[in-house]
Amino acid sequence: QLRPTCLPGFFRWVTPCQLAVHRERAVDMSESNLAQRKERDEMQVSGAKVIAQALKTQACYAASAVGYLTGRPGACLVVSGPGLIHALGGMANANMNCWIRILLLRNFSHSATSKIDSLRKVEACRLYSKFSARPSSIEAIPSIIEKAVRSSIYGRPGACYVDIPADFVNLQVKMNSVKYIECCMPPPVSMAETSAVYMAASVIRNAKQPLLIIGKGAAYAHAEEGIRKLVEQCKLPFLPTPMGKGVIPDNHPNCVGAARSRALQFADVIVLFGARLNWILHFGLPPRYQPDVKFIQVRREARFKIRAVSSGLSLSAISSAAFFVAFVDICAEELGNNVRPAVTLLGDINAVTKQLLEQFDKTPWQFPPESKWWKALREKMKSNEAVSKKLASKKSLPMNYYTVFYHVQEQLPRDCFVVSEGANTMDIGRTVLQNYLPRHRLDAGTFGTMGVGLGFAIAAAIVAKDRNPGQRVICVAGDSAFGFSGMEVETICRYNLPIVLLVVNNNGIYQGFDINTWKEMLKFGDATAVAPPHSLLPNSHYEQVMTAFGGKGYFVQTPEELQKSLRQGLADTTKPSLINILIEPQAARKPQDFHWLTRSNL
Ligand code: ADP
Ligand code: MG
Repeated sequence: QLRPTCLPGFFRWVTPCQLAVHRERAVDMSESNLAQRKERDEMQVSGAKVIAQALKTQACYAASAVGYLTGRPGACLVVSGPGLIHALGGMANANMNCWIRILLLRNFSHSATSKIDSLRKVEACRLYSKFSARPSSIEAIPSIIEKAVRSSIYGRPGACYVDIPADFVNLQVKMNSVKYIECCMPPPVSMAETSAVYMAASVIRNAKQPLLIIGKGAAYAHAEEGIRKLVEQCKLPFLPTPMGKGVIPDNHPNCVGAARSRALQFADVIVLFGARLNWILHFGLPPRYQPDVKFIQVRREARFKIRAVSSGLSLSAISSAAFFVAFVDICAEELGNNVRPAVTLLGDINAVTKQLLEQFDKTPWQFPPESKWWKALREKMKSNEAVSKKLASKKSLPMNYYTVFYHVQEQLPRDCFVVSEGANTMDIGRTVLQNYLPRHRLDAGTFGTMGVGLGFAIAAAIVAKDRNPGQRVICVAGDSAFGFSGMEVETICRYNLPIVLLVVNNNGIYQGFDINTWKEMLKFGDATAVAPPHSLLPNSHYEQVMTAFGGKGYFVQTPEELQKSLRQGLADTTKPSLINILIEPQAARKPQDFHWLTRSNL
C-alpha cells in the first residue's frame, strides 16, 4: 500500500493529544491548500483535535498551554517563511516556561534542493527549543518524532521543533518500508539523595521564619497532594508564584500571598518547589530578601555557607539573620542560580515531597502556629487585605481595578480556568482573583509575554470541553494585551468555545487618558505628534469584535452593569462573550513597599 505524507507516523505519537494548527490563510496556492486539507484530514482521522487558528503565534501559545494542562505535547503546524518566524515567539515562550510543545514546520522547500535553507531553520529553532531536527528521509520521520516527543516531556519540559520538507508531505512510500516506533514510556521519576533530604528536613526544622515557595514546576509535576500534606503537617507558611496559584487553594489558611513582600523579605529558610529565582522572585536578592552572610549549624554538625550580600539594613531589624534556600527542581543546572543554596534536592517534585514527608513522619515536627513569624505574617495580611478592600469599596466612577476584580471574584466559579494578562490587570488581578485548583491559571509567565491570553484561553476551553464540559474559562485581559491577539475572537466563535473574555479597559498601557483629555490633546496636533505612545484610543468598543462574529458583547461602566453582564456571560454555556469594562484611565496599584529592582540596587 502506498501512503502519502509523514503524518500517520506523527500521530502515532501525539494521539490523542490535542493539536493547535495554524491555518495558512494567506497562502492560496492550490497545491498548498490541497496538501493542507490532506494534513487536516489525516490529523482528524487519527483522532487528534485540530484547531485552525487565525494567528500563528497564538497557535503556538495554545499548543504549549495544552502541553502544560495535559502533560502531553500539543503540536503546532505552521508553514515556512513568515509562518516559522511568527511561531518562534510562541516557541520561545513555551521553552522559557518549561512547557512541552512540538512545532512542526511544513516547508515550502524541497528536501533535495533546499538543504542549506532548511538547516538554517533548524538552527534558528535550536535557540528556543530542547531539540530541533529535520528528518533526512520519510523513513526517518517516526524516530525523529519519537525523539521530539521524548525530549519534550523528559527532564525539564520544553519545546521541540521538527522540520518537514514539502515533498515529504506529498511523496508516497511503501507502508512496510516505514518502521513505526512505539510511543516513549512516561518520564522516569528521579528522587533526591537521601542525605540531602535529611539535611533539608533539618534546615526546615531549625528555621525561625520558614517559607515554602510553590512554583509552576510543582503544578506541572502534579505535586499538589504531597505539598499540601507537607504544609498542613508541618504548619508551614507558603507563597505561590503566579502560576503556582491553586496547587494549594489560595484561601488555605497557610497561604501568605497577601503578605508576599513581608514573607520574602524576612524568611530565614526558603524552600523553592519548582520555581526559579528569576525576575518573578526578584532574583533572590536584597532588598527583597534578607542580606547577610552566616554559617549556621544544622544538626549533626553540617555547615552551610550562604551567599554574602552587603547591605545597610540593620540586623536588629531582622530577628534571624541567615537566609537559606533549598531548591527542589528536576534541572540540575538550575540549582544554585543567584543564591548559594543550603541544600539542593534534585528530582521530581512529587517524589521529593514524598521523601521529605517520610522524614517528617519519622520524626514529627511542626512549626509553632503561635510563633512571632506567623503573627507578623497574619498582621501584614490583614492590613494589606484591608487596603485592597477599601479601594474595592470606592463608589466613584469610573471604577478602579480593585472594584472590578472584587466583583469578578464574587461570581467566579471555583473550578474555572483563569487566564490573565496585561500589566496592572494581571498584577492586581492576581492578588484578588482566587485559584482553588492546580493548573487552572495561565498568564504572561516567565517571559512576561503579553498577547498570550486568547491562545491560552482557547487551549483551556478545548481541554475543559474534553474533560469536564461546562467548566468555564475566564480570560481577563487589559485593553492593550487584548490588542495583541483580538482577532482570535473569530477562532473562538468559529469553534463556539464559551469563553468569557473580560477586557479591563483603561485606554492605555499601564495608564491612558479619558476622552476629554484625549480631545484636548489633539487640539495641539495630530496623534502622531502629541499622543504619548502608551495611550490607546479612549472608550473603544472592544465588545463589538465579539458581536461581529456572533458572540455576545457587553459595554459596562458601573459595578451593577458588570455584575449583570458577568452573570449572563457565565450562565450562557452556548456562546462566548466579551465584557468591555471601562475603568479610570489613571487607576493604579495600591502603594507598594518596593519599587522594581533597579540597576543601582541589583
Ligand atoms: P514560576 O514561574 O512559577 O516561578 P518557573 O517556571 O520559574 O516557575 O520554574 C519551574 C521550575 O520547575 C523549572 O526550573 C523546572 O525545571 C521545574 N520543574 C518542572 N517540572 C518539574 C518536575 N516534575 N519536578 C521538579 N521540577 C520540575
Ligand atoms: Mg490598559
